[in-house]
Amino acid sequence: MAFDYDLFVIGGGSGGVRAGRMAAQTGAKVGLAEEFRYGGTCVIRGCVPKKLMVYASGYSDAFEDAKGFGWSVGEISFDWASLIAAKDAEIDRLEGIYRTNLQKAGVALHDGRAVVTGPQSVRMADGTQISARIILIATGGHPFTPDIPGAAHTITSDGVFHLSEQPRRILINGGGYIACEFACIFNGMGSAVTQYYRGEQILRGFDGEVRRFVAEEMREKGIDVHCGTEITGIEKTDTGLQISNSFGHIIAVDCVLMATGRLPNTVGLGLEDAGVNLGHVGEILVDSVSRTSVDSIYAIGDVTNRVALTPVAIREGMAFVETAFRNNPTNPDHDLVPTAVFTRPEIGTVGLSEETARANHDIDVYATSFRPMQHILAGRDERMLMKLLVEKGSRKVLGCHIVGPGAGEMIQLAGIAVKMGATKTDFDRTCAVHPTAAEELVTMSAPVR
Ligand code: NDP
Repeated sequence: MAFDYDLFVIGGGSGGVRAGRMAAQTGAKVGLAEEFRYGGTCVIRGCVPKKLMVYASGYSDAFEDAKGFGWSVGEISFDWASLIAAKDAEIDRLEGIYRTNLQKAGVALHDGRAVVTGPQSVRMADGTQISARIILIATGGHPFTPDIPGAAHTITSDGVFHLSEQPRRILINGGGYIACEFACIFNGMGSAVTQYYRGEQILRGFDGEVRRFVAEEMREKGIDVHCGTEITGIEKTDTGLQISNSFGHIIAVDCVLMATGRLPNTVGLGLEDAGVNLGHVGEILVDSVSRTSVDSIYAIGDVTNRVALTPVAIREGMAFVETAFRNNPTNPDHDLVPTAVFTRPEIGTVGLSEETARANHDIDVYATSFRPMQHILAGRDERMLMKLLVEKGSRKVLGCHIVGPGAGEMIQLAGIAVKMGATKTDFDRTCAVHPTAAEELVTMSAPVR
């Protein structure tokens, strides 16, 4: 039977765009539907605009630190509207590149929502019926907001990039990546930030020492982090919002950002009717090559709720093309994924936390905490943390954790070594680059425990 397309991709985010382009390069006829903007969460309302805001928020420290190096800094001020306008222009530029790259690769773009109507058919919102030999679902996720009284007065990460004014006082709910990053962003921009997290310590899943270290540094910077605390109600007042918490306390803020996790975008996509099995939070269940319960339908990226990171979605997309269009079944590799959290200080991490490593291996812990050179003249007390978890006997590095300036950049490179199976001896025989902070990674001589 002749199909309209060899591949029809639903979702023009990081994973879908990469898969569509690479499949087209194999000679396949590819169509792609996107209902919002090309680039997806990462480019439009995630990693990219967030990182621009992280850069913006770092200048307050930079102006302060400059004085220690002999600079006189005049009166400083920050204009939210200018940043948002510059950020929007850059996002428009990037979206254009995504669109153009798809077109250059020969992918037919369908601007609009597509729903699956069968194992090899979709319907666009305007009623157009499309058939495809293979369908790839790459629809990503959306922020989840818990059902609490007054939740309608809150925003999520979708709205935070378009606030018309910088909130003077903001409450951030959650203790994960997004909550901690935005707590630091708004703090750096001069807002008064309160953060509520329901659990014992922020950044669940990360190394325990890293979590404590970052929470302490965030508090040092003036972020009012409250663990074991939940919002019980939100009321609108003449001057902003009034928040009640689980301790019976009340605070007043201008804005509440809910950063309470994300859910896969599968509602109303017609997947269940087509026979695609979903999991308990609505994620698409896939096998090791990203194939769903329907042979002709695959899924990649956040909609599968595996590892919700852009580079992982991209690699899942590439593995999918190898499997479905190059006759080379390929499992995306989810092991030892390095990642960064753009808090201030920043976190870079790869491999096991100390807790997980200890539960499964006999380990030595190498760790050091110090004031990086750049902070000394600046008079900044902020410290840096470096940590290697090493399996006794094999000396294999099971985990590497860095907190401090440049941690995200460093972990990309340390990640190569850890992925290659480097041992502590390999780290030790690598000459230090002096004077850097990263050199501490190769000069830790004795285990601390
Ligand atoms: P996370 O899953 O990281 O964090 C969600 C937070 O919300 C957790 O602290 C969770 O608490 C809390 N939470 C969940 N439900 C409730 C509730 N009902 N009431 C109160 N608190 C609640 O999600 P994020 O939204 O921060 O980020 C989503 C994903 O996006 C990340 O996991 C990450 O994969 C990706 N991301 C990556 C970034 C990067 O690479 N730098 C940046 C931003 C996002 P608990 O811990 O108790 O479950």
